[in-house]
This record gives sequence, structure tokens and C-alpha cells, in this order.
Amino acid sequence: MIKSAVSLFICFFLAIQLNAQPNYGPTRNLSAGELLEGVRKLQVTGRVLYIAAHPDDENTRMLAWLARDQKVEAAYLSLTRGDGGQNLIGTEVREGLGVIRTQELLAARRVDGARQYFTRANDFGYSKTPEETFTKWDRDSLLADVVWVIRQFQPDVIITRFNPEPSPTHGHHTASAQLAVEAFAAAADPKRFPEQLQFVQPWTTTSLYWNTSWWFFGREDFDKSGYLAVSVGSFNSVLGTGYGEIAAESRSMHKSQGFGAARQRGEEIEYLKPLAGKADTTALFAGVVTDWSRVNNSAAFVSALQKAEAAFSASQPELMLPHLLEAHHLLAKLDDKNIHVREKRDQLHKLIAESAGIWQEATAEKFTYSHGDSMGIKLQSLVRRNVAVKRTQISWEKVNWDGDKLWPYHYTMTAKTDQTADMVFNKKLNSEKRIVVGSDQPYSGPFWLNERLDAGFFDLPRTQWVGVTENPAAFRVTTSYEITAGGKSAVINLSEPVLYRWTDPVEGERYRPIEVLPAVSLAFDKGHYFSRDYKAIKLEVVVQKHQTGFAGTLALDLPEGWLSVPESVELTASTNGSEQRYAFEVRPGKNATSGHVSAVITAGKQKYDRSLSRIEYKHLPVQTLLPKATAPLQLIELKTNPRRIAYIDGAGDELPIALRQLGYVVDVVDVATLNPATLKQYDVVLTGVRAYNTVSALATKNQLLFDFVQAGGTLIQQYNTSQGLVTDQLGPLPLKLSRERTTVEESLVIVLHSEHVLMNQPNRITAADFDHWIQERGLYYPGSWDKQLTPLLRLADPGEKPSDGALLYGEFGKGVYIYTGLSFFREIPAGVPGAYRLLVNLIEAKQSTPTKKP
Ligand SMILES: [Zn+2]
Repeated sequence: MIKSAVSLFICFFLAIQLNAQPNYGPTRNLSAGELLEGVRKLQVTGRVLYIAAHPDDENTRMLAWLARDQKVEAAYLSLTRGDGGQNLIGTEVREGLGVIRTQELLAARRVDGARQYFTRANDFGYSKTPEETFTKWDRDSLLADVVWVIRQFQPDVIITRFNPEPSPTHGHHTASAQLAVEAFAAAADPKRFPEQLQFVQPWTTTSLYWNTSWWFFGREDFDKSGYLAVSVGSFNSVLGTGYGEIAAESRSMHKSQGFGAARQRGEEIEYLKPLAGKADTTALFAGVVTDWSRVNNSAAFVSALQKAEAAFSASQPELMLPHLLEAHHLLAKLDDKNIHVREKRDQLHKLIAESAGIWQEATAEKFTYSHGDSMGIKLQSLVRRNVAVKRTQISWEKVNWDGDKLWPYHYTMTAKTDQTADMVFNKKLNSEKRIVVGSDQPYSGPFWLNERLDAGFFDLPRTQWVGVTENPAAFRVTTSYEITAGGKSAVINLSEPVLYRWTDPVEGERYRPIEVLPAVSLAFDKGHYFSRDYKAIKLEVVVQKHQTGFAGTLALDLPEGWLSVPESVELTASTNGSEQRYAFEVRPGKNATSGHVSAVITAGKQKYDRSLSRIEYKHLPVQTLLPKATAPLQLIELKTNPRRIAYIDGAGDELPIALRQLGYVVDVVDVATLNPATLKQYDVVLTGVRAYNTVSALATKNQLLFDFVQAGGTLIQQYNTSQGLVTDQLGPLPLKLSRERTTVEESLVIVLHSEHVLMNQPNRITAADFDHWIQERGLYYPGSWDKQLTPLLRLADPGEKPSDGALLYGEFGKGVYIYTGLSFFREIPAGVPGAYRLLVNLIEAKQSTPTKKP
């Protein structure tokens, strides 16, 4: 009996969960203006899907105008999570950056009102053409994902950001538009991807457009004939803001890309080129029904919504309630399989609850839990408008990833509170429950990072995860409220994620998701290990217990030919949350090979091999990552001599840690307080990636660095982007940056001067040193330079004109100046041996310099 009640409950919530992209910020009620906009949006059924390649490609002004002015359901499908980009706000690269940019997109969507989708594609870095892109991504698999999202979202109109014709832009961009064109047709064809049809139906989209911009043509006055012009710069009088203002706020969420944007006010025109279907130059929705006349028997429902809108009062929005409750009953009679009925029902529930002034929040007493832990949850409810509300039931729920049918996950009840309570106007009602975190509760690492990357795609647990943006909240509370107004009443269910709330003395109230961690996590003390000349090396495993009383055995998993001393170690007793360090010595035998070292704790039949890292930025909810505890273990022939290095941090990279590991003295120095006396202590000044884009003090302090070279020091500058430099003169010898880059990591490298000191001292550089580079060779090479600078490397992507600017060497006064666009910031953390050997040669370019004493 109980069992069937539970399953009924599950069925009821199945349909609504994917709509809700949880907000991990403060729970706040809607203003009267937002309620009015809400009842207007319920009357519109149009749907638009915007397609491009990366987080930040999307036109936020178009999305804001679609979602908030046209009031259609707007969504952005980004092929990737942006893993291959650069990071302006921290040191995360690759998958960590993808996690940040996923959250930046979600933050942007909360501002502009659109929704978000992704495919499985991993952003592997820059590619120059769609052909190069499709050598990394299997075209058919990616097309299947785009078709899947179209069949699920059922758009009336699809808009691409990029031109499907070959264009001078990132290969991913053109590829995204080409896939949109193909998917437009394929989604409608039941013979394409028939395996999807057990979950979704074929879908015919009415029209397809390309949303162009002046920057495709390089001029504002491009020929606009043949384009649909849409005016999107209007002002929303109810919200008190224009779409150019919302767009800027949304775009400014892409902080890791430095995309802070200025608010635009006044008329702005978007141009769209019809590509397929009924798209034409008269109207965006030509041939599309965007109201409820497309849904059978919906007239009475629409009439109730219109009455609600007519009854709206800014001081008493609850006057809409009798009509909204009527609309609720009428909508319940319509066919639930229809996407408009299903989705608008959820929006209507939310609007009814908000019109009644219901506020609720569910919080746990801490933010970290492991399997078997007891969790205390507190639910607070409040009715803030003068409306008759009863709280009838509370369902305390946990997420379950074994969904059925379309849904990749669902929530199941762990406990129920059945007391009916009358809500008293403006008096908080609290409920508490204690639940146990079950052994089947999924861990909190992002679902797309749980398995290894496979041929350019994230390996997802099941097809149904395609399109899903982020992990659903681990725990949720669903409350039933009986709301009565004007003689009508209805029971509305409202779900809230369980969050942790705390007060930061500077930031004020903050929220974060609840994380479920393994009972123990482990990490290596360094990002990678080298054995130089087959010497034994020491490493430490840092173990952190997340559960009191955990016991187990720790051992290393080593590449062929290595052994560890001790072979294994029993974990010592320690308190929950505290760190313990365990030292091992690893010894390479004669036939040892380079590879990875992993750490594993065995406890009974269970194995624990995950490390814990968190990504914390003010504009995003805290992200918990649980990657495998593993690090590169390399045999390397590397000679080094003592040097003292002053490191000037740019946008953030991990070189200082790696250089210290090689035995160099590295101080990260503050440019603003730099003076000749401080500089005298160093042999080398090394600037971090994009230092000349991000450190404004370099504009005034750069002459000090030139003097340092003049007096015999070595200045090495890593890559900067050509736009937004803080000074026109980067180094003591002039050069000019271009946008040239080498994106194929296996591409040919020609050494132009094989007898040059940089290629020989102290390490002899050979072709083998350019093996196993990752993602790219380098970027933003100088395109022209002073004749006193010697280019040392010639790099070329297959079929392209070679560049000689990747590594430049020049003597200035008694010192040496080196500029390099090589991607040391990617290769060094990844433990690429050749990159280490070359970087050491750069640092030791001046061999005769006696190491200075502080
Ligand atoms: Zn892009």
C-alpha cells in the first residue's frame, strides 16, 4: 500500500524536474511586475532554439528579447562547455574550466530568462576549419546530440550564431551552424536516429535563420538586403529595464573570458538570414502559431489567463488568484503529452504560489555528507500575501540517477510529513526532519566527468543525460500547499533544493549546494613527479576522511617497472575532516616506463580512488569535483643549474609550483612595489600568461624590467593576447603580436638554429621533445619583430603557412630577452617532458650569470 503511494508520487514529479534549473542563490519572491510578466508569458507558446559552439558565443540580447519581450520559450544549445578556452580569473584549465563556464552560462540564463542545453562534445581547443573540427568529433554522433535536443525541446524556430558557409572563424563555430542545418532536417526524419524514438518523437521545426552581425563582414554598412531586420533594443516598462541592459548583465557573467559588457540603450537591430523552412524576411515567426490556438480545447484556459491579467493590481497581485486557480483546473483537463501543456503547468504552479506570496527554503546543518551519515533538514515556509493557504504535506526527497523513459534522474521520497497546518499571514512555519544518506546516493562530481573522455566526447551514463546542464540537487523538499481564493482552491506542489546557508562577514548571506562525498578522498602532494636519471623519488599521499571511524589500506598503482616502499600502509585513526599524509618512495627499475601513478584505498570490498577539489568564485555556486587521484610519473633526462626567478603572475598559471619542484628559487613578486633593489636579487624575470593584458602596473614598471635586462638579467615573457595590452612596448626589443597560432598538437616543428644556445644548454633539444604536447603548440605569436631578435622555431598546422614567431631570442645590453607564445601553461601542468627541457633552457639562457645572493 505504502509502496504504491510512493510510486504515484514519483510519477507526479517526473514530468517537471527537467524544467527546473536550480538556483543556488537566495530564494526570493517575485515582484508584482514579474508576476504580471509571468501571466503574460503563460499566454505565449512559441519556442526558439539558439545554436552555437561555446559558452559566450550566444547573443544574449537576442535571447533576452526573445524570452522577456516576445515571451517565447528561448533556449541556447552550446555544443561544448568551453573546456578548451583560456581562463582570465584563475588557474583552472580544461575540464575545470568547463565546469566554470557551464556555471557562467547558467548564471547568464538566470538573467536573460532563456534555458540552457549542451551536447557531449568536449572543447578540445582551437581549430581553424570545420574539417579539422570533425577529425576530433565524430560528426554523426554530434549530429545525434543536436537532433536529440531539438526533438526534446521542440522549437518552432532555430537560429544559428554562425554562418554555415566556410568563414574565417573558429572551426567549431562553422561546425555548429552546419550541424544546425543538418539537424533541422534530420530531427523531422523518423529514419534518422530511430533509437531516440523510444523516448522522443520526430520534430519538424518551421524555420531556420542565421543571426549575423557586422563583425562577420568587418563593417557596419554591410549589404542588408535579403536579411530579416528585428528591432530588439526596446524597453520593458514593467521590469524597468531594456533588453540591451539585460543582455549586458547576462554577458558579463562570462567572467572567466573577460566578457564584461557595457549596457546598451535605445534602438538596436538584429539581422537574420533565412536558411531553411518557412524562414523569410517579413517576420521571425512567419508561418508559426505562437499562441494557444495550436492546442485543442485550450480556449477556456486562455480566457481564464486573460481574466487574471485584467484583475492584476500592483499592490494586490493576489487578485489574479481566483482566475489562476480556474486556469489550473482547466489546464489539468488538457493533454499532458503536449509539451505546452506540460511546461506551462509547471510555470502556472509557480505563478500561483508566487501570487499567494509563498516563500520557502530548505537548508541542511552542514554542506558535506557521506553515505550512512545522518542529515538534519530544516524547511521554512511563509505566506506573505493575505491569502488562505494550508500546508498539507512535506516530502523529503533524494535524487536517484536510475531514471526511466526520457528522464535521466528522478527524486524518491525518503520521509513524509503528513500534518496539515494552516499558514498564518506573515508568520514563519518551520519543520525539521532527519534522514540517512543512503549508500546509493550519487557522489557530487559533475556527471559528465565521471568517466574518461572518449574520442572528443564526454562519456555519459546514458543517452538521456545529453542536454542536461548540471547535476540535479542531491536532496530536495517538495511541499504541498492548498491555496484558496474566490471560492476556488487547488493543491500546488513546490520543490526546493536542500542548500547550505551561511553568513559571510563581507559578502553577507551565501548559499552552496549540498555535496555527497566518498568516505575518504586522497590527493598527491604534487601535480606530477619526475625521476631524473632513474633516481628514486619521494611522494606523499594526502588522505582526508569525510566519515568518522573510517579504516582502510592505502597503496599505489604504478606504471610498469616501478616499485613502491612501503608497498601499502594502514590508515591511522584521525578525526573527520582532518588530513593525514603518507610518504612513499617510488623506484624505477631498469625497464621502467613513464606513465601515471594512482592511489587507492581499500576498505573491505570497497575501493576509494577519488580526490576532492572545489571551485569557488563569487559569481558561481561552489562546484565540487571528484577526479581520480592520479598524477603523471615521468622518467626524464633533465639538467638544471641554480637560478633565482622573479615570477610576475598574469591571468594565472601553475608554472611557479613546477619550477620550484625543479629546484629553482621562485618568488611571485608584486609589480606595483617592484624596484631595482628587489630585482637585483634575481637572475630571471618570468611573466605569467597574459600578464600584459591583466597587470596594469606593468605599463609603468616595464622600464625597470628593460633596465634589469640591460644590467645582465634574463627577461622571459609568456604569451599575451594582441588585444587589450597595457603597454605598446612589451620588451626592450620591439615586436608586434599577431593572432597566429598552431592548434594541432602533433604539428611539425622545425628548429631554425640547431646550434643556438636555447637548443643546447643545458639540455640538447631534439624532435622528440615536441612529442606528446597537448591541445596546441602555442598562440598569439609575434607577427613582426626587431632584427636583433632571432626566431628559433618554425611551426605550421597541416596545410597552413608557417609561423616563425613562437620563440624569439635577443641580446640587449648585458642580458637576454625572450618572448614565447608556446603553451607552457598547458604543457607544464600536464607533465610534458620536452616542454620542461625547453623551459629550463630558456631560464638558463645566460649560462655565465653567477647566481645572485639576496
Ligand atoms: Zn566560440
